[in-house]
Amino acid sequence: MEDIYERSLQGDITREDALKLVDSGPFQLFDVADELRREIVGDEVTFVVNRNIDITDSCMIKCGFCSFRDSIGYHLTTEEILMSIKEAKDMEATEICLFGGVTPEMTVEYYCNLICNIKENYDIHLHALSPVEVFHAAKASEMTTEDALRAFKKAGLDTLTGASAEILVDSVRAKICPNKVSTTEWVNIIKEAHKIGIPTTSTIMYGTVETWKDRIDHLLILRDTQRETQGFTELVPMTFLDKNNMLCAKLQGTSGMDDMKMHAIARIILGKEIPNIQASWIKLGTKLAQIALCCGANDLGGTMMEDKISIAAGASYGEHLPREDMHRIITEIDRVPVERDTLYQRV
Ligand code: SF4
Repeated sequence: MEDIYERSLQGDITREDALKLVDSGPFQLFDVADELRREIVGDEVTFVVNRNIDITDSCMIKCGFCSFRDSIGYHLTTEEILMSIKEAKDMEATEICLFGGVTPEMTVEYYCNLICNIKENYDIHLHALSPVEVFHAAKASEMTTEDALRAFKKAGLDTLTGASAEILVDSVRAKICPNKVSTTEWVNIIKEAHKIGIPTTSTIMYGTVETWKDRIDHLLILRDTQRETQGFTELVPMTFLDKNNMLCAKLQGTSGMDDMKMHAIARIILGKEIPNIQASWIKLGTKLAQIALCCGANDLGGTMMEDKISIAAGASYGEHLPREDMHRIITEIDRVPVERDTLYQRV
């Protein structure tokens, strides 16, 4: 494991190394990941005060793991979105995370008008859309994805979400989200965003039909992309939630041990290159998120004010954690809470 520690810091972990690690004793694995976390980012645990706004639950993509699509049947108006942002500003949120389903009417013009409206009314970081929305908006507007991204940036988009990555292996995508952008399309849109100065998060949605080899290949794609562009701010591992979707009849979701291994392996593969690994309390629950913070993670995500997507999929850990709760969860594991913005600057 000493060798793995050094090689992780050098950025030298191979697929074969990672596959061997999956079969090694989990507690040894957690120890190495935790040591790496301490060496790379120290004892601070960051979090962001934010609000999720999901524009609509109508969606033509129809992913098998999605519990959100058509769960309520709504499409927020611009006025309703602005009202939600006002509530977030009143609570001193620094970030709005805006996305949702994909419909043919959601063109580049639609998103640009919405973004302009938000930015004209509020001084707040807009973390919005993902490669799948960019792809379909560009297609509907008969534009290239790069031109669509340039238009969104000009309208005021600050950062793009790295959602819609799921597992970046096309044979897995064919089973869980056959209508979504392919691996190559996702990576290309992310690289275009980074090239024109739009940073993004990166994500992995694991626990459906993929193997550990698929998860590792996904992480290696993210590491290679980061080497080329330096545009990822963090990795958000998202465990599959097994309620109210087409896949849940056949699948049960992961064990807590599997979740912890996922965070540890991500830390070991990504090392210093993507230094921020999030423990998503809304997916894991706050107690398991505390453990993930001891297995390689260093960020507790957002305080949120609502997360219709996770709630529809059976997440039962609430929709909002105020600053004080974030502080308590972090200090209970003897770490140091730090409020950050979307770009990991201290607030
Ligand atoms: S996961 Fe996103 S893209 Fe897929 S069906 Fe649900 S809302 Fe649509």
